Amino acid sequence: MNDSSASASASSTERPVAGLSSLQQKFAKKLEGARFRTINETLYTSTGQNAFDSFQRDPIQFDIYHAGFREQSRQWPYNPLHGIVAWLRAKGGKGGKKLRIADMGCGDAELAASLSDVHTVHSFDLVSRNSRVVASDIAHVPLREGSVDVVVFCLALMGTNVPDFVREAHRILAVRGSLRIAEVRSRFDGDGISIKKFEKFLKRAGFDIVQEDFSKLPGGVAQGGGGGGGGHNKMFFEVECTKSDRQSFIQEDFCVRPCVYKKR
Ligand code: SAH
Repeated sequence: MNDSSASASASSTERPVAGLSSLQQKFAKKLEGARFRTINETLYTSTGQNAFDSFQRDPIQFDIYHAGFREQSRQWPYNPLHGIVAWLRAKGGKGGKKLRIADMGCGDAELAASLSDVHTVHSFDLVSRNSRVVASDIAHVPLREGSVDVVVFCLALMGTNVPDFVREAHRILAVRGSLRIAEVRSRFDGDGISIKKFEKFLKRAGFDIVQEDFSKLPGGVAQGGGGGGGGHNKMFFEVECTKSDRQSFIQEDFCVRPCVYKKR
């Protein structure tokens, strides 16, 4: 990764492997970390369709990736998924509306598991490891046009074809439905890419930006650090948009930087 604030060690899981000496365990851990980094890099440098074909052929990649991802996320001061869950929960409950939500790149479907009492959640990922998840490339999910109220991409805009994912969100969202994105901030930094350009891209794609400061929402955590303070989330960029009734003009060549993990 290019930004040290967003990189973390890929040291993999701490669980001891039975029957192995401590040296063998050290090697096993290193190997697991290396496999995680390779899969992570492949996901960020191939199209969603190629990633889908590859994970369907060899689903163990999903397990290795997620063991590493979980290990990484334990080291973050704040997990954006938890903020999103709190935001959606606040919209439901007493007198609230039961929302139809698409969780695109859901991982192990924690969002659906956390909200199934208040909302209907459709969870999509490259491989289905539990009954909540439908295996699908998030550029083409099996939902009808205008059939959901909220689309979530939490750290899931991994493929090189980000415009296809945003187009799919626009297709399945009802007009005035919400799109919520959380991404590693450094992915929008440099190489001709910026948060400003991404927001411009979203506007042209037919969305209105509602807000990008979640520090005051339930579950939203101000993550100042380094004296930045004031609710500025240094590691992640989060944005909420609504689908407007304007026509969508997707800029096909828009791309976001890959997020690779440093070997430590
Ligand atoms: N949203 C979850 C998981 C984030 S990890 C969370 O925040 O905890 C990113 C996930 O996106 C991975 O599970 C990966 O398999 C999935 N993903 C990446 N590209 C995808 C694609 N083209 N189609 C479906 N899922 C994808």
